[in-house]
Formats: sequence, structure tokens, C-alpha cells
Amino acid sequence: MQIPVRKMTGTKRIALVAHDNKKSELIEWAVYNKKALSKHQLFGTGTTGSLVETALGQPVSKFLSGPLGGDQQIGSRIAEGKLDVLIFFWDPMEAQPHDPDIKALLRLAVTWNIPFACDRATADFMLTSPLMFADYEVIIPDYTQYTRRLDKPDNSNLSPKQ
Ligand code: PGA
Repeated sequence: MQIPVRKMTGTKRIALVAHDNKKSELIEWAVYNKKALSKHQLFGTGTTGSLVETALGQPVSKFLSGPLGGDQQIGSRIAEGKLDVLIFFWDPMEAQPHDPDIKALLRLAVTWNIPFACDRATADFMLTSPLMFADYEVIIPDYTQYTRRLDKPDNSNLSPKQ
């Protein structure tokens, strides 16, 4: 059986997101890792993206601000295979108005098996991995049983009742 994979090149498409209390930490991390990040393509939620762009002097493709839908936009790009890596410094000490969106984004990162870091130490380990700069085949989890669940004859009881 062939295992479905998605190819990542040595240039990764990295999405950056930080909650307000974590923005300075993300910027500090990004500046420290400026050289490594310059080899990749950067994306970000509105405010985080602008701050990173200014701090690095490197273009960042910006989505909407997180609470206005930016997290969901990143989630949809992950589901479409258009982003490779997520660096998301979320704030463990403060509830956010868009908590459901945050949960959804983290869920999609796992659903599609993409590398993601939610704190600085993990981001350091990730960015220093040789895989960040090499071709890599991400194994796409097999969801065919799920997507075909209604094709099975024994699921006929799922059809709408008359
Ligand atoms: P922001 O969004 O970068 O626009 O502040 C981040 C978030 O809260 O998800």
C-alpha cells in the first residue's frame, strides 16, 4: 500500500502567531533566529506578522488579525497543504476571545501532521533541526475510512428519515 505524503522543500512556509503577552517573546526569538528564518517563507496573523516583518526586515504574508479570523485562515491553509510549519506562542495565563479558533488551529495542525511549536524551547529545537532546511515528506494521515464512511451499505441507516 502506498503511504500518502506531502512534500516539503528546504524552504518551509512558516506561520507565526503570538498572543499579545507573548509577542515580545516571539519577536525576540525571531530576531535571534533572523538568519535561519531568512531562508524560509514567512506568514503570520495580522499584528504578529507586521511586528515580525518590521523586526526582521523580511516580508511576511499577513492574514487577518487572529481574533478577526486570522487563526482560522491559517488553519484552512494547513488543511489545504499550503503551510508547512506553525510557530504559535499562545498565552497559557489568559483566556482569549477567540479561544475556539485557537483550539481549532491546534487541532488542524495535529490533524494534518505538521510540525508546530507553542513555546520558545520547542521552536528552538525545531528551527535547529536539519529537517528545517531539507526536503521532507510529511505522512498524511489516512482519513479515507472517514471520508468514505457514508459509502458503506451498512450505513444506510444514516440516510435522512422519511
Ligand atoms: P494578532 O493575532 O497577531 O493579529 O494579534 C494573534 C492571535 O491572537 O491569534
